[in-house]
Amino acid sequence: MIKRVEVNYRGIFQKMLGKYIGSDIVQIATRMGKVAFSNGRYSDAPERNGIPCKYFAFVSPDLSEEELEAECGAKLDIDEADVSIVVDDTMVKGVEPWGWHGVRPINEKVREKGCLLVVSRHPHDHLLQFIGKKPYSYRLATLEGGASLAGLWVYKDDLTRERVLGALAAVDPGIIAIEAVEAYLLDKTKDARRAQAAREAYEATLRRTRIVTPEEGIDWPHEVPILPKWHEFEETGVVVRSVPRGFQLGPRGQARNDAFKRGTTKTHRPVVRFDLCIKCTLCWLDCPDECFDPTDDGLFDVDYEVCVGCHKCAAVCPIPECIVMVDELKFTDDKSPWEAYTKSPQAYIEWAELKKGKERIAYPHVTGQGVNITEGTTVPPKVAAV
Ligand code: SF4
Ligand code: SF4
Repeated sequence: MIKRVEVNYRGIFQKMLGKYIGSDIVQIATRMGKVAFSNGRYSDAPERNGIPCKYFAFVSPDLSEEELEAECGAKLDIDEADVSIVVDDTMVKGVEPWGWHGVRPINEKVREKGCLLVVSRHPHDHLLQFIGKKPYSYRLATLEGGASLAGLWVYKDDLTRERVLGALAAVDPGIIAIEAVEAYLLDKTKDARRAQAAREAYEATLRRTRIVTPEEGIDWPHEVPILPKWHEFEETGVVVRSVPRGFQLGPRGQARNDAFKRGTTKTHRPVVRFDLCIKCTLCWLDCPDECFDPTDDGLFDVDYEVCVGCHKCAAVCPIPECIVMVDELKFTDDKSPWEAYTKSPQAYIEWAELKKGKERIAYPHVTGQGVNITEGTTVPPKVAAV
């Protein structure tokens, strides 16, 4: 028997977290007398900021190392997962990896009666409005917490790692048992707080796991390409279409690669108060992914299909409250915000303020000091009321 776990994480920001969880599973299972190994999906390397990536862990109580390696070692992706762990809940909107296999449902690999374990502060029903339907029942578990983002290659030691291990023991004790998790953490760190965090997550996850039936979830809106088998490769191999060479400023701005949009890379998206914009062009100039489109009225529309949520535009915009980064799970579509604004400025501003809420989020990515949350203000509209 083989138990398969995948850890879905955001490239670079959560790389160490994903890797540690995979390696911990192996060490805990080994201490339980099982055979295990962990590896990353090689097509995810080199990683790009925020790109959805995977680590895998395979555990068997009865196979030899060689047999387990032969079964699981040389595959691009996992065939099916007993548990699919997601350490940033915005990935429930779909994952589009660096090696481009299309925008795929986060629960794609979860087997019947398996479990999708999501670190999230959102309730199950909220997550399910983004997750694709499965033809069978499976379980959805949530572990209360936010995306543990700290910085480039920086591991944020906020106990997410330990809590995920505890939660994994709750949803599938056939992989690792909570007692073994506690003993491992105590032996390894001599820190009772870490074992306690795992135990508390274990107890909480038992209460926060529920069955998802085939009727629940959404009809998947993205085309999921069927990857060719190796014997179907053409002489030139399989390639992602590239942006045509040469710089050409089209009527709406930039040249982009339609074949690889990367919108699933973002944890937050910029909400723009167009009425406050002074048309300084900084967001348009500084966005590393060329997401801003100049409009005829001198404003800059955002293409959310290509925005990767890097926070740069919000950091450079000189006008307070003009660009604010907001939790991606507050949005259900990628429609043009500028079109909504021009249709009804008042309604758009009210909508934007509702989405912005009170919290203002900033990640000092380079320092790796974690998230800064401050309280925002509501700036009155600068358009005439109608
Ligand atoms: S967050 Fe702003 S700067 Fe970053 S990719 Fe999105 S639109 Fe561009
Ligand atoms: S940076 Fe802010 S003020 Fe400047 S053009 Fe962009 S939205 Fe407008």
